[in-house]
Amino acid sequence: MSEAGGQGGAGAARPDLRSLAKAELQALVAALGEKPFRARQLQRWLHLRGAASLDEMTDLPRGLREALRERADLTTLERAVEQRSSDGTIKWTWRTHDGKLVESVYMPETDRKTLCVSSQVGCAIGCTFCMTGTMGLARHLTPGEIADQVHRANRRLIELGEGEGPRPLTNLVFMGMGEPLHNYEHLKAALDLLLDEDGPNFSHRHVTVSTSGLVPVMRRLGEETQVKLAVSLNATTDAQRDALMPINRRWPIGELLAACRAFPMKQGRRITFEYVLLGGVNDTDEDAERLARLVKGLPAKVNLIPYNDNPGLGFKAPAPSRVEAFHARLIARQVTAVVRKNRGRDIAAACGQLAAEGGPGDPRRAAPGAPAPGGLT
Ligand code: SAH
Ligand code: SF4
Repeated sequence: MSEAGGQGGAGAARPDLRSLAKAELQALVAALGEKPFRARQLQRWLHLRGAASLDEMTDLPRGLREALRERADLTTLERAVEQRSSDGTIKWTWRTHDGKLVESVYMPETDRKTLCVSSQVGCAIGCTFCMTGTMGLARHLTPGEIADQVHRANRRLIELGEGEGPRPLTNLVFMGMGEPLHNYEHLKAALDLLLDEDGPNFSHRHVTVSTSGLVPVMRRLGEETQVKLAVSLNATTDAQRDALMPINRRWPIGELLAACRAFPMKQGRRITFEYVLLGGVNDTDEDAERLARLVKGLPAKVNLIPYNDNPGLGFKAPAPSRVEAFHARLIARQVTAVVRKNRGRDIAAACGQLAAEGGPGDPRRAAPGAPAPGGLT
């Protein structure tokens, strides 16, 4: 919810405190004549404790809070829907200050608690097997909206007794709705906030950004951050990948893998290659052999993701025996590969099933008498 009733209005745009970088918060606080430690306090309220309003920031002088309220907004995602899976997965549908819906998925494991984060409302890339891809792109998420998914999740997990405060989450994966590298500036700003010691202070070793293959931006990500890279490969020939992922026509497999080879890798790191197994499309032994050849020589790990059904898209899941055979071929070729567990399928929270608008999690669809959700674009 927006404290100040929405962005802007007539005249100059008001900044959203949640989206400001550390240096911008410092400059704002200095301009208001306050001491530097007040900026640190403010940042900790915004990004460590996930304060939803200035009123919560009780150790900031009232005058400073009033001055901030006059000059800036403070937006917070509102929890619209919470769905809990039998396997412990939780999917949240958040409502932005302008009524858009985005989703995050919490996946607890014994040694880690991971949040799958969205970077955009919808996605412009249009992969033919992905529910988010069918929505088109409504808009980019702001840095504050990207970071606030983490804050809202942490706060809720504490309420649910899922961990100690202020930060139960240990890992972040940017594998939710949207193509993170298509919204690179905001992604980078959000990462800066999430990895900052005055925020939730995630380690870059515990943060993974997944891309469908925006080659020039992959280079920037490698130069400007130290987070881990995942690449959605999903096919082994250009003809096949062109048909599944339109982005391949712009940056074909050869260029994508060249960018992977050039990606600055820390010692012991690997690139994760995601490969959605589509029954009868890309799941043959020949595909497995080609995949092994493509990633040969790269510090790579292959994540096989059996297709999660999205009715109406015209694909089907591979037979379990096919998944096993495909996996075995990769292992036989000395490729590190795992079959990804399908978490949260019962609540449409699995890979490629996120589509808050009009999907199973759409609160307007759930509400009796609500108008049918319209198209997004
Ligand atoms: N846009 C980025 C980040 C989203 S990650 C990217 O594509 O990499 C989402 C992952 O889920 C991708 O690896 C994608 O290939 C996979 N995926 C999409 N639709 C799927 C489906 N129906 N079943 C299984 N995996 C799917
Ligand atoms: Fe977008 Fe990734 Fe889905 Fe492709 S797989 S449409 S890039 S979210």
